[in-house]
Amino acid sequence: MPATRAANVAPTAHCRDHVASRPTWRCRACGTAWPCGRAKRDLLAEYGTRRTDLLVYLATLWEEALGHLTERHPGTDPAESHERFLGWLPPRPPSR
Ligand SMILES: [Zn+2]
Repeated sequence: MPATRAANVAPTAHCRDHVASRPTWRCRACGTAWPCGRAKRDLLAEYGTRRTDLLVYLATLWEEALGHLTERHPGTDPAESHERFLGWLPPRPPSR
């Protein structure tokens, strides 16, 4: 998937206090590892049924974060950070 697509699916600016701080990838508002609980709720509310768009957005951020995190912490486990960025998403609805 092209990384540039994320620009088209990035969330709108409102209620986005709990955003990631680069290059630490901690929440700007609460200081925990991003996405924090509030960020997850905000993202789910903001994207609603557009799950694929949210996946693309998070995957793009994960790719960027992995570069930063690996640089700062060479032992960063890609699978673990993938779980952190994408593993919390609820499963796809059975059908539509
Ligand atoms: Zn937060």
